[in-house]
Amino acid sequence: MILPGATVGVLGSGQLGRMFAIAARRMGYRVHTFSPDYDTPTGQVADREVAAPYDDLDAVRDFARGVEVVTFEFENVPAATAEAAAEHAHVRPAGSVLHTTQNRLREKGFLARSGFPVPRFAAVRSAEDLKTALAEIGCPAVLKTADWGYDGKGQAKIGRPEEADAAWSSLATGEAILEAFVDFEREVSVVAARGLDGSFASFGLFANDHRNHILDITVSPAPVSQQVEREALEIARGILDGLEVVGVLCVEMFLTRDGRLLVNELAPRPHNSGHLTFDACVTSQFEQQLRAICGLPLGSTELLRPAAMANLLGDLWSDGEPDWAAACRFPEVKLHLYGKAAARPGRKMGHLTALASTPEEARRIVLAAREAL
Ligand code: AMP
Repeated sequence: MILPGATVGVLGSGQLGRMFAIAARRMGYRVHTFSPDYDTPTGQVADREVAAPYDDLDAVRDFARGVEVVTFEFENVPAATAEAAAEHAHVRPAGSVLHTTQNRLREKGFLARSGFPVPRFAAVRSAEDLKTALAEIGCPAVLKTADWGYDGKGQAKIGRPEEADAAWSSLATGEAILEAFVDFEREVSVVAARGLDGSFASFGLFANDHRNHILDITVSPAPVSQQVEREALEIARGILDGLEVVGVLCVEMFLTRDGRLLVNELAPRPHNSGHLTFDACVTSQFEQQLRAICGLPLGSTELLRPAAMANLLGDLWSDGEPDWAAACRFPEVKLHLYGKAAARPGRKMGHLTALASTPEEARRIVLAAREAL
């Protein structure tokens, strides 16, 4: 067991690492962070901030020598980086989990082979492949780059077969995945943790609304039947067991109009849809990540009150600094800001969480508070 007083290392330095560091420091751990940048959201609250490229493996080894365990807040670090870190510290989750989840074809392949429900998909490596795949899967479909995709980047929706060539050129990639377009009723996610001893704990189901492919609002509990929730948590458990995750992993899913769950994507780390756990649950997703990677018993995931989270994107800054005091006038709203200097459109700058007696009420309040900014 890695106990309070020890130093934990985070690869990546964004808001997920920042909230992880806050949770870790609260429990008496020291936190080091490694990323190519300086004065980062994580670095601002860490004990030590190392700024070096991920492929500077000597710097990675040096970093790993200074910590007991290395975890991630950014899953697209190269496999060689995780391997170099593993020479000197525990790496949790293991590099193999990253390897599977950082490529959409490997990820969907793992899910399909293991019997988890996924949208129909096919590998695409040329314009010819795409035509064959479209004939098999049909329209509408979504073409996504296999590597480095997030928040809808590197995606093209194909409504008619004639759009295939344009979609393939627009991605400018050598490897892609074609998926059937899912006519979903809603998007949901499960954030779950698996301990060193195989113990498992998941938060209740989150309901997610996206805007321009970026998460906008999360509400918990999700307004779905108990059976759907049970099924979603079972799928998540199977995935964490199958990948032998030690740490936190988020499973994003579609709930189709006929009540089926289909897995869209995995993130082997805390997730934006779990941010409300910081204020609304006995244990936050960040503390749970810490507990899991340190070999501590997992904490209770109980939701203390229904909650809703609204993201604050850089677009909010278009007319200058938002009116923070206005959000603070809502006593049941918590303000989180990530310490990012430049507010670019689409950039995640912070979020609001509202607690209320029902999820609908929490959603209404968090939207009103964001509106007041
Ligand atoms: P992703 O980067 O794969 O998480 O996709 C971002 C968002 O695009 C998702 O949250 C969905 O709103 C939408 N999307 C992705 N894949 C599909 C699909 N196969 N069918 C319908 N919508 C999709």
